[in-house]
Amino acid sequence: MIATDLQSGVERLGDMIAEARTIVPFTGAGISTECGIPDFRSPGGIWTRHRPIEFGEFVASQEARDESWRRRFAMEEIFAAAKPGRGHRALASLYRAGKVPAVITQNIDNLHQASGFAAEHVIELHGNTTYARCIGCGQAYPLDWVKRRFDDDGGLAPNCTACDEPVKTATISFGQMMPDEEMRRAGALARACDLFLAIGSSLVVWPAAGFPLMAKNAGARLVIINREPTEQDDIADLVLHHDIGEALGPFVGN
Ligand code: NAD
Repeated sequence: MIATDLQSGVERLGDMIAEARTIVPFTGAGISTECGIPDFRSPGGIWTRHRPIEFGEFVASQEARDESWRRRFAMEEIFAAAKPGRGHRALASLYRAGKVPAVITQNIDNLHQASGFAAEHVIELHGNTTYARCIGCGQAYPLDWVKRRFDDDGGLAPNCTACDEPVKTATISFGQMMPDEEMRRAGALARACDLFLAIGSSLVVWPAAGFPLMAKNAGARLVIINREPTEQDDIADLVLHHDIGEALGPFVGN
């Protein structure tokens, strides 16, 4: 059912939250746009400016790695300044209240952790861009280290000091394997909840977009909050085509 107006949608959502025992939120880039981080597909989104660099290109080409890090550093001011928005804070309130065991996110911005979720309760399907990892041995590096090496070497992306393989943001790029453990945990949560909230995702990036469907098929109620229609609106129990901050602001608690 598509909520006709924001107020009735928020009321219905409030009822569903009150009736639920276990709520699993699944978030996409839309929850972070009010924090100043652009999404991918909206007008002005990242993809209107850059074609994504696939994992295979990153591995094969020093130039692609240099470009990838240039782009990342160009975004640093935005990522560093971003604070959790109303959507993040509402979910953190439900987490503190014991209704939300964990959040599944496609986001890489660390804002769920910043809003109060323990790191082990943020299931990052696409990794995290606030630090880096060697793609060979998995050694973690702070971004500051990468930036210093990059600047000292005249804009060359660095390799791992231990195994000499390339160092990449700790994110999952197109063409890169999805993380097994996160996929397994997300599937288990989706199947075990009685209310699944898909928030700020265009639901076109698979396999992540399969989780709302999985929850619905396992018997959960499905709510979609996204300002644009998604392909899964038809199967949802409630759809709010509204701003996430407006829709979830009333659920920001103590
Ligand atoms: P997307 O860009 O495909 O979709 C975002 C959706 O959110 C759009 O449909 C848009 O209409 C909606 N939206 C944007 N702002 C909104 C608002 N304030 N209120 C309501 N709806 C709003 O993003 P996606 O589906 O999450 O997938 C793209 C991939 O991009 C993800 O896998 C993620 O890894 C990556 N990404 C992450 C970030 C981040 O970490 N903040 C930002 C950009 C992209």
